[in-house]
Amino acid sequence: MNFYQQDLTYKSYIQKLDDIKSKYSNIINLFSIGKSVLDREIYAISIGNVSNTTLMVGATHAQEWITSLVLLKFIEDICYYINNKDCAYGTDISKRLNNKGLIIIPMLNPDGVEIAVNGPSSAGYLKDDIIKLMKKDNRSWQANAHGVDLNHNFNAGYDISKKNEILNGITSPCPRQYGGETYHSEPEVMSLVNFCQNNFISMAFSFHSQGEEIFYEYGDKTPLVSKYIANILANMCFYEVSKQKGLASHAGFKDWFIETYERPAFTIEIGKGENPLPLIQLDDIYYRLRKALFTIISL
Ligand SMILES: [Zn+2]
Repeated sequence: MNFYQQDLTYKSYIQKLDDIKSKYSNIINLFSIGKSVLDREIYAISIGNVSNTTLMVGATHAQEWITSLVLLKFIEDICYYINNKDCAYGTDISKRLNNKGLIIIPMLNPDGVEIAVNGPSSAGYLKDDIIKLMKKDNRSWQANAHGVDLNHNFNAGYDISKKNEILNGITSPCPRQYGGETYHSEPEVMSLVNFCQNNFISMAFSFHSQGEEIFYEYGDKTPLVSKYIANILANMCFYEVSKQKGLASHAGFKDWFIETYERPAFTIEIGKGENPLPLIQLDDIYYRLRKALFTIISL
């Protein structure tokens, strides 16, 4: 069965990464930026100039693993063009990426994706803890294997985020929206933070799957150009440009990146409906987003 037509598992993900690497070893580099709670590797793929890059991150939220598939499709799409020597567009992409490279982390939260797809039995020694924390079925699991929501664990308005959680009755590990005991407590978050600190990333994009909208703001550090970029991308995909509210307003990756580096960062919500979005939507979602993704690498 086609990889893109079946539920994503860590095993099938690793196989796909290996396939891409062996097919396009002349174009991409595959490496790990760190490990998850359950010791799974957090992989990144780089193309082009690694000293100045755009960063794309998928599957921060476990049940939004369709974002990993979208990013893998995009990598294969880029490689296909670059590998085709007769294709002027491929040569153009190659030139742009040699000027400013691209790093994609398709799955920041591999343990969470495994829990969302294969259930608590995939969580090894934490299986019983996960069963206790699980409220509905496993498919709506959003957090990592500690029951911490990674997009509530970054050091940007963390105290405000924590107060909001408590006001909403979220005070301990659970399937979604618990930000942990302290900011950067989770290995997945620390891996990404360290990676950003050790590399020059000019712009960052975090992919989620709920709302068909783009968020670009975080406080007064938001660069002026961000609104302009968000509008261009939103017009291409027929998405909205939105302002975050409520529990999602602080402590996310985009927020931290903007506050720390004063460079543009965006959250792109690529679909609508109940998560996990049905795989049958993948092709439509990808083709609606494709032009914007290729535009991002020419920014
Ligand atoms: Zn999300």
